[in-house]
Amino acid sequence: MKVVNECKRLHSAMLWQVKRSISWIFPGDLEGISFLKLIDELEPAREVSDHWYKKAVKNEDFILGWYKAADRSGASITLHIGDIYKCIPRVYRWTPVATLIITQTLAHEVGHHISRKKGQAIGLTGRQDKKADREEETRAYVYAAKVMARMRRRLHYRLAAWAVSDLSQWHDVRALLNWREGKYKEAADGWYKSWVIDPDNERLRYNYWLAKAKCDRDLTSCKHPGDAPLDPQ
Ligand SMILES: [Zn+2]
Repeated sequence: MKVVNECKRLHSAMLWQVKRSISWIFPGDLEGISFLKLIDELEPAREVSDHWYKKAVKNEDFILGWYKAADRSGASITLHIGDIYKCIPRVYRWTPVATLIITQTLAHEVGHHISRKKGQAIGLTGRQDKKADREEETRAYVYAAKVMARMRRRLHYRLAAWAVSDLSQWHDVRALLNWREGKYKEAADGWYKSWVIDPDNERLRYNYWLAKAKCDRDLTSCKHPGDAPLDPQ
């Protein structure tokens, strides 16, 4: 897997952190991924861009990364390093905390790849199943959780994991304050940051979708329109 760095403004230590993150992924799981692209801003959407991408650029959504299944140039993963670092306050930036968060994002996207590869294997036996199914997202989370569990066996990552959960709470509280001030976009971004750091937390996910629905003024996409966000217990 080739690393293609297209970041315009980021520190050189960032590349080192990304390489450390890659080393935590089993090399066999990376097979079939041609390249890992690092960007620090989203390119303008083009006519041929995917629908989700056009929407993300238009709404200035917060996006950490995505997986693109094999096409003519092979499968690829893009990490939006700019947005990943927005989750990480400066004091933690060059510490294992950042490596943990980058690895979590990368492992999630590799999880999509593995899921899809399995789909393609089934395809060989007659079932063409290269599209994402409903469980693919869950499998990507499970895969990332396994990689994180492996990292946490090392003491410095275990310590960093405490800082990471602290960080998640910090984003959570700020998001709630933004919500109360009616700043729904900032609240959605805050809960998203909080949720990507703590992906098993359903409450953060719920609050994120609620704030997002509120700022899109598209309350129909939200199951409980008008509800207040859930407070931490
Ligand atoms: Zn995913």
